[in-house]
Amino acid sequence: MNYKLNSVFFAILILCISFVFTINCVASPVLSRYSEIKKIRFWTAPDHIRIVLDMSGESIYRVRELTNPYRIVIDIPGGKFSSGLKGTEINNGVIDRIRINRLRSSAQVVFDLPRKTHFDHFALKPFKSHPYRIVFDLKKSFSEEEIKRKINTAKLIATSGDRIVIIDPGHGGSDPGACSGSGIKEKDVVLQICRMFAESINKTKGYKAILTRRGDYNVALGKRIEIARSHGGDCFVSVHLNSYPHSRACGSEIYFLSLDGSTDKNAQRVAERENFLLELWNKDKVREDDVQSILLDLTKNDVMSKSSVLAECVAAKMGKTNSIPFRGVKQANFVVLRSMAMPSILVEAAFLSNPRDVRLLRKRDVLNTIAREIAEGVISFLESNSIAETYMGKINYIEHIVKKGETLWSISREYGLPVGSIRSLNNLGKGSTIHPGQKLRLSGKE
Ligand SMILES: [Zn+2]
Repeated sequence: MNYKLNSVFFAILILCISFVFTINCVASPVLSRYSEIKKIRFWTAPDHIRIVLDMSGESIYRVRELTNPYRIVIDIPGGKFSSGLKGTEINNGVIDRIRINRLRSSAQVVFDLPRKTHFDHFALKPFKSHPYRIVFDLKKSFSEEEIKRKINTAKLIATSGDRIVIIDPGHGGSDPGACSGSGIKEKDVVLQICRMFAESINKTKGYKAILTRRGDYNVALGKRIEIARSHGGDCFVSVHLNSYPHSRACGSEIYFLSLDGSTDKNAQRVAERENFLLELWNKDKVREDDVQSILLDLTKNDVMSKSSVLAECVAAKMGKTNSIPFRGVKQANFVVLRSMAMPSILVEAAFLSNPRDVRLLRKRDVLNTIAREIAEGVISFLESNSIAETYMGKINYIEHIVKKGETLWSISREYGLPVGSIRSLNNLGKGSTIHPGQKLRLSGKE
């Protein structure tokens, strides 16, 4: 009897072990009786394809890679496809097609690929109107030649002598951002504004705009930072739309980074929402020590006080001609701003929760006005900081040309630098005076 019990126990143990070894990913032990795959959606980014399976509940799924031909097979035991759901042809060089197989006791999704591809997968719990999801990121592979070409193009832009404005349309792909009651998505409107903003910048001689996102796809925080850094950005502007539980709040706001708290509760709420969305949808979060090293640079290069000047320059242009009222400049701890080693702001251009703002956002000329106003503000910031200061190591100091009526004390207040350090950086003795037109070196790495 004992022997029999032991052998049964052993058999169960072997079964459990083999189950654990064959299943790549187990979403959770708490499962509904069966899961329905309601939708399959995909987005194509320059460096990856994201495929999302919308599920009716939490599900176990098993991922296998098969060869000849190469494919990724996802089995969902007890799963069913919603009626009418079909596979789809993609043929974009990374994936040929998505197929679905309605098997007797499981649902099977197959990605047919032209070659072996690195991929990543994870499960997400419901969030707002989004159901349980299983997410796949298939990475595009680039030849050495292509990587070299990309790096060289970025280098060429960084060293062109043009002022580089990094324009960051918030969200994208499976992350829609805020949504209006009528279904307008933040990710779509901000992309439109940012394209117009980039056009305004590129039309101006000596300026070049680089977009962190050019279409409807996810961009991880690390990728946004890499784009800004590799192109030698002189400043960074992230564009978003706000949303509030009640519909009265309206208008635009500009934010710059605060490491010690927010201007008010609303500012804190906006930062919490944007940070949460960015971190929720971007699995490859920035490593905390990367952020720490950037924070040191922020203090060293006085980037934060420059960001406040950038915010004021843009604020001075906003709400002038367009009918979206301007609510002011605020501070909060946004993760996307915290990661940038260059003057950075985040514009919340309007409220998607306010019917009047939404009506205005439907008009192309209103979007154009918002874009033009931000561009004018950015250009006035980069022009007023007379010399080619940069925060990416092109030139590592800030130069200021003394204007009529300025004193060492007024310049010290403007840049937040002690008078003593301005004196020592410029070899000015205690009794020395400054005169209009004089060039002062204000801070920098030796
Ligand atoms: Zn946003």
